Amino acid sequence: MSLIDVDGSPPEVTLPRPSLSPSRASDFMTCPLLYRFRVIDRLPEAPSPAATRGTVVHSVLERLFDLPSSQRTPEQARELLAPEWAKLLEAEPELAGLFPDDAGRDEWLTSARSLLDAYFDLEDPTRLEPAERELFVEYDLASGLRLRGYVDRLDVAASGALRVVDYKTGRAPREGFEAKAMFQMKFYALVLWRLRGEVPRLLQLLYLGSGEVLRYEPDEADLLATERKLEAIWAAVQRATERGDWRPSPSRLCAWCDHQALCPAFGGTPPELPILPVPVVPQARAAHERPSPHMPRDEV
Ligand code: SF4
Repeated sequence: MSLIDVDGSPPEVTLPRPSLSPSRASDFMTCPLLYRFRVIDRLPEAPSPAATRGTVVHSVLERLFDLPSSQRTPEQARELLAPEWAKLLEAEPELAGLFPDDAGRDEWLTSARSLLDAYFDLEDPTRLEPAERELFVEYDLASGLRLRGYVDRLDVAASGALRVVDYKTGRAPREGFEAKAMFQMKFYALVLWRLRGEVPRLLQLLYLGSGEVLRYEPDEADLLATERKLEAIWAAVQRATERGDWRPSPSRLCAWCDHQALCPAFGGTPPELPILPVPVVPQARAAHERPSPHMPRDEV
């Protein structure tokens, strides 16, 4: 790509508004180099059975609430699994290659059914009428930083109290790591507070993998602290961008990283950084944080 137009003048480059989602903020905190690979280099990532299962289970739980409340049963949820998998496969046919054979796929579907069964041990959906599902939220902070993401479910009580719910197909975090898990929820709570003028009463993470629920009641001070943290993360992203300094930060999460071959921590060499000013936010899929089998959202 050239820096100079055919008439000799620099091409007009419009950079998108700076924005941050919970997943990409978390990427940067986990490993700046991982953030770079995903956001700046936009390196492809292979879908995984676990992430794909998360996507399908989320779709089923979203569709479940289309049914009349009396029909929201474990059997109906299981019935929804095959059509939601078929829909995903139609949109992304390469996912068929995830399984060596039909037996492997069936085993995977069975594990997805187990997660759906686990959901019914945590909640009774016949008694719930969510106000929103897969709600896209977006808010611009005073600094200009745009926060954006998808909330799995938003419940609104008759009193107007908000409950933010997120489904996780992995296991609940070990003791002492709950705050890290709750960061994403505080992010959403901050955006909802700014959009609706009310601090959500409850943040609730449902871990289908271990059958546990993590709850937190945020207050204004919490959310203001989250806002300051996000601004600080963004300032660090900008500094890294200006300096071209994206350091690897090895951790146990490297085991799930698709980019070990390019990572200096594993003897690799990252590609050259793009020359032109590049957007430092995901443009297409990740911009809206839609669940994707290519980028695990809750399995690691
Ligand atoms: S392998 Fe580990 S250190 Fe390297 S980019 Fe991935 S997460 Fe970061």
